[in-house]
Amino acid sequence: MFRESIKILKPVADRIQAKIAERNLQISMETGKTRKDDQVVVHFQYKNYKELYLVITESVNDEIDGLGPGEKCTHDLQLPSGVCQICGCTDNNACVDPDHGPCWWANEECTLCSHCAPESNDDSLAAKIKQYEEA
Ligand SMILES: [Zn+2]
Ligand SMILES: [Zn+2]
Repeated sequence: MFRESIKILKPVADRIQAKIAERNLQISMETGKTRKDDQVVVHFQYKNYKELYLVITESVNDEIDGLGPGEKCTHDLQLPSGVCQICGCTDNNACVDPDHGPCWWANEECTLCSHCAPESNDDSLAAKIKQYEEA
């Protein structure tokens, strides 16, 4: 099991908890207080980062959708290096294309994987396929 702690708004934490229960995910979460009343710190224990990443981003997006005009989003969810910002894959849990195999990092920061990167990125799968077809 791996660990990850984030600070988020309380309603988001509640939604994450509901989604974890609903989907029967192998993620345990423990909630603690922060200095801000509306914010909590959540300690997760998980096996699969992609599952955790998806459940967090979905819950954060629900919250952003619920914001009125002019209201600011107060989340500062930062994903660590080694996690694709689009699909949430990691070195230990790569995405696999049935024809082209597992992904690789398409940027130096290791925050974007080849299978999610646009064709304009030379290290993307899309760019490699294009180069191959043109050769
Ligand atoms: Zn990706
Ligand atoms: Zn990937």
